[in-house]
Order: sequence, then structure tokens, then C-alpha cells
Amino acid sequence: MKTKILKKSIICFMAGAILLFALSTQTFTAKNKITKEKQFVLNWLSQPQILEKFGKISDAIWSYAELGLQEYKSSKLLADTLEEAGFNVERGVAGMPTCFIASYGSGKPVIAILGEYDALPMLSQKGRVPNQDPIVKGAPGHGCGHNTMCTAAAAAAIAVKNTMEKYGFKGTIKVFGSPAEETLISRPYMIRAGLFNDVDAVIDNHSSSGFGTSYGTGGNAMYSTIFSFKGRTAHGASPWGGRSALDAVEIMNIATNFLREHLLYSYRMHYVIIEGGEAPNVVPDKASVWYFVRNSDERLEQMYERVVNCAKAGALATGTELEKIRVLAAVHQRHANKAAAELFQKNIELVGMPEWAEEEHAFAKALQKELGRPEKGMPTNVGKLREPGRTFVGGGSSDVGDVTLIAPTATIRFPGGVPGTTSHHWSSVACNYGSTAWKGLNAGAKAMAASAVDLLIKPEELQKLRDEFEEYSKTHPYKPFLPLDAEPPLDLNAELMKKWRPFMEKFYHEK
Ligand SMILES: [Zn+2]
Repeated sequence: MKTKILKKSIICFMAGAILLFALSTQTFTAKNKITKEKQFVLNWLSQPQILEKFGKISDAIWSYAELGLQEYKSSKLLADTLEEAGFNVERGVAGMPTCFIASYGSGKPVIAILGEYDALPMLSQKGRVPNQDPIVKGAPGHGCGHNTMCTAAAAAAIAVKNTMEKYGFKGTIKVFGSPAEETLISRPYMIRAGLFNDVDAVIDNHSSSGFGTSYGTGGNAMYSTIFSFKGRTAHGASPWGGRSALDAVEIMNIATNFLREHLLYSYRMHYVIIEGGEAPNVVPDKASVWYFVRNSDERLEQMYERVVNCAKAGALATGTELEKIRVLAAVHQRHANKAAAELFQKNIELVGMPEWAEEEHAFAKALQKELGRPEKGMPTNVGKLREPGRTFVGGGSSDVGDVTLIAPTATIRFPGGVPGTTSHHWSSVACNYGSTAWKGLNAGAKAMAASAVDLLIKPEELQKLRDEFEEYSKTHPYKPFLPLDAEPPLDLNAELMKKWRPFMEKFYHEK
């Protein structure tokens, strides 16, 4: 029995070794001269069982679809995986139960890889089905690919750890398990807790349909704030004794909508009314509206003050009280480091776009057809290094923005998504699952791991990032927008997850 197992494992080992040799010679030696350390890290990630292992982790997180600060299962799976691989894991850091830091090694340099794992509300969708078809109607879904992201970060970090062990080079590799990116919450708190104090460079990542990176200032700074009003109830048919908190919200919204005309085009502003009464015949004594106020770093605070004035106007006009202004998050624009992006770009080009199977192109085309987009299938080439746009036109936000002002940082966008799909949309949920997501996150992990190895073994490369960062910091010192008394909003999404989790778990248990 024992010899049989031994024989079998020898055969398996030999088959694995042959496969490994084939992959390594095929992919990473023919056209590029690379260090033995980088060769090793890339070959380790090229092993089919590694692709599968992290693919399955990504799919599991996709199925949990946990909203920000409720990512208990997702963060545990990732932290456990890193701990089992030999990382020292600190859980529940920076006042957030689903936030963790996994470290391996000791001393300088300290290279950080960021990772996210939160889902978005209302986007439930079956994986790899090219038309809208929810698993649990109304439940959350991974509409931004965050299921693949900390997974790719963990794969990269473990590969780097194995390379450090094999070649005995010094330094520290850390994974920053970052909850609630969709609501831009965790990073300013992690910075405030001092978790980035010893970090020399940061490798950020995001899922995409392309494979590339960029540098310079981009995206918007942002305040995420809930304005709550307090009035007085009365019978809806004899309302003169009441003071409607909902009226205050409506007047605030009208005021901010008039304000739009007089804001420079770089702004974005959107809101949802999250509390506004329960029946028309009871004058609502409580109402709340949640705003995202976005602009450049330079214009954000000024704009925010004007929005606060609109809230005060709503209260004044209705005889209600502006009871609370609760800042959930406040973040900077992204200031990506050019030297970091240039280094990442080289490794992206070295790794190359994954080879997609015919059925993967066919699925992409079916999804593109459904969305009325050109039926091009999956992409075949990596992108060029993206320069900053000449004109600032605003756009989305990320709490990575604050990190870019604390340490040299750039983002590796890795493939897996279908070109033409929309982020924060069911189509994105459909393609962030299964084979293309597996291959895409594996390619992303390779680019990250190769970059981390470069930064660990080539002090001159790291110095380029550091020099640029120190120079930039002279004119852009970090000053958080997040108020000092703000606390992580741990209650955010708790009710929603409580509502949806049993339905989602039921589906996966039945499956
Ligand atoms: Zn995202």
C-alpha cells in the first residue's frame, strides 16, 4: 500500500516537474532575461494546482458576496490561507473586525500588497450566465471583482515568501486585508492606526478586463456623509403641529441640485434617502440622506462646506433640527507613483495576457451581445502604460488615494472581466466567477509577485520610487480629510447582510 502511494506520488511529482519545466521554459525564459528569483516566483504561480487553489478561494468569496465591514467569511478565508502558508496574521486591526495584516520576513524593505474583498448591494447574479439572472433577487453580488483581488494579493505574497525562503533574501512582505473599499472606509483608519508607518512601497491591484497600470493624479477625493434631521410627528391629515424631517431632506436635495450649476465640472455628487418615514399619514420626525460629495483634493473641502450649508438651509426652512452629520468616509484622490508604475508595467508585459479558451471567448461574445456592445471576445494584448489625463474630469474614488500619499503606490489592473461589461452591474458579477477570473487573478498575482521581488532584491529600483515619493510629498504632505473623531461605521451594512445572508447560504448549501 505504502509503496503504491510512493510510486504514485513519484509519478505525480515527475509529471508536475515536467509540466513546471514546460511552463517555465515556454513562458518566462525565451524572450526575457530575468533574475532566478523572478523566474522562481513566476514558475511557482504557474503551477496548475496554484491557479486552481486561488481560483476556488476567489469563487468562494464571490459566493459569500459580503458587504463592507461584514466580510467575516471572506476575510477569514484569506487570513487563514496566509496563516497556513506561514504568515504572521493580525486580525481585527484598526478597529475593524474584518481588517487584517499578514506579514512574512523581517526588517527592511517592507513591501505591502493591498487586497479588497467586499461586495455591492442588489447585484446578485449567476456566474458565467450571459443575461441578467439573479441567484437571490435583491441580494449583494461581486460587481467590482473584489473577490479576485485580495485573493490575487494572497497568492502573490505566498509566492514571494516561498522565493524569499528559497534564495534567503531579506525584507518583509505584507498583505493588507482591507475591508469596505466600496464605501471607501478602511484605509484612512489603517493609516491612522499607524499600520503603514514602516512600509516602503505599496502594490495595489484591481480587477479589470485589461492588464495594465497608470501613474499620476486621478479619480476624485470624496466625503461620504449621512445628514440626519429631526422633526415632530403629527397626523398626516392635520399636519400643522408637525415638522417634517423628510421635507428638510427634500429641501436640502433641491438646494444641492441648484448648487450643481455653480460647481466646476470636476465635481460629482449623488445621494440616496435612507430614512424618510414609513406611511404618508404620519409626518416623519426622522429622515436621513446619504451623500457622496466628490471633487479634486484642492476643491473638496470648499464644496463640502457648501453642501453642509444646504443641509442647514433644509433644517432652517422646515423648522427641524439638523441632528447629526456623520462622516462615514473621507478620502484623497489617487497620486500614483510613476517609478512604481513603470516597474509594474515591465512585469505586466513580461507576464502577458492569459491565453483564453474558445468557450471563454464565446461566453464573452454572448455577454457583449446581450449588452449591445461590440462582440470582440476576450482581450489579447496587455495595455500600454497609461499617462495621467491632460484635463481633470473627476470620476470615481478609492480609499487607496490616502495610501498613495503615505507611501509610493501604483495599481496593477489585472484581467478576467469581459470588455464592454459595466462595473457595479450584474454583467460584472457574471464574469468575475470561474475560469476567466481564475486566469486573470493568476496573471495579476504574477505581475505583483514579480514586482515585489524586484523591490526586495534591487535596492536601486526601490530607491527610484522612494526618491519620487519624497519629492512629491514636499508639495503634497498627507493631511487626512477624515475627521479625527470619526470611527469605522461597523453598523454599516449589518442589517442588509443579516437580511440576505441566510438566503445566500441556503442557495450555496443546496448547491
Ligand atoms: Zn472596485
